[in-house]
Amino acid sequence: MEKILISACFLNNLVRYDGTAYDVKNKLGIEALNTITRWQEQGRLVALCPEMSGGLPVPRPAAEIIQIDALQINSIPRELTQVMTITGVNVTDEFHAGAQVALARCQQQNIKMAVLTESSPSCGSSTIYNGQFSAKKIAGEGVTTALLRQNGIQVFSQFELVAADYYLNNLEH
Ligand code: SF4
Repeated sequence: MEKILISACFLNNLVRYDGTAYDVKNKLGIEALNTITRWQEQGRLVALCPEMSGGLPVPRPAAEIIQIDALQINSIPRELTQVMTITGVNVTDEFHAGAQVALARCQQQNIKMAVLTESSPSCGSSTIYNGQFSAKKIAGEGVTTALLRQNGIQVFSQFELVAADYYLNNLEH
C-alpha cells in the first residue's frame, strides 16, 4: 500500500504557529474531510510537521521566506534561502532541519507523494507569503516542499485532493 506524507495540521494536531490545527471540514468541505479520513482509515497517512520536527515550538512567531529577488540580489542559490520570523529571528536552520526529517521519513517508508498545506513557508507548493509579513502571497514553494520535489516526491496541496487521489490510484494500479 502506498503511503502519503501529510501535514500534521490536517489531522487535528495543534501544531500551527498559533497553536491551532487546520480545520479541514470548515475550510475545504465534507468531501475533502472524507478523502483524508478514508486515507487515514486505510493506514496510509504519515503525519509530520516539519517546523516542529526542525525544533520549533508551538506557539511560535509567524515566519516567512525572505525573497532575495525583492532585495535585487540575483543568482542566489536555493541553499541560501533565508527564513525569518516576524520578530526578526533567523529560523533558516530549523526549517532546513525539518525538511530533512520529512525527506528521511519519505525515504525510510518509500513514500512517493505528499499532501502539504498551501502557502506555508515549509509546506506551500504553489504559493508562499512574500517575505514582508504583509499578508500577500506570491508564487513559490516552502522549504520542505522544495526538498521533497528535488528528490522526486510528488507534492499536492489541500486544494488538490482529487488530483492527489487520482495520482495515488495510478501509483497502485
Ligand atoms: Fe502545518 Fe506544515 Fe505549518 Fe507544520 S509546518 S503547522 S505541518 S503547514
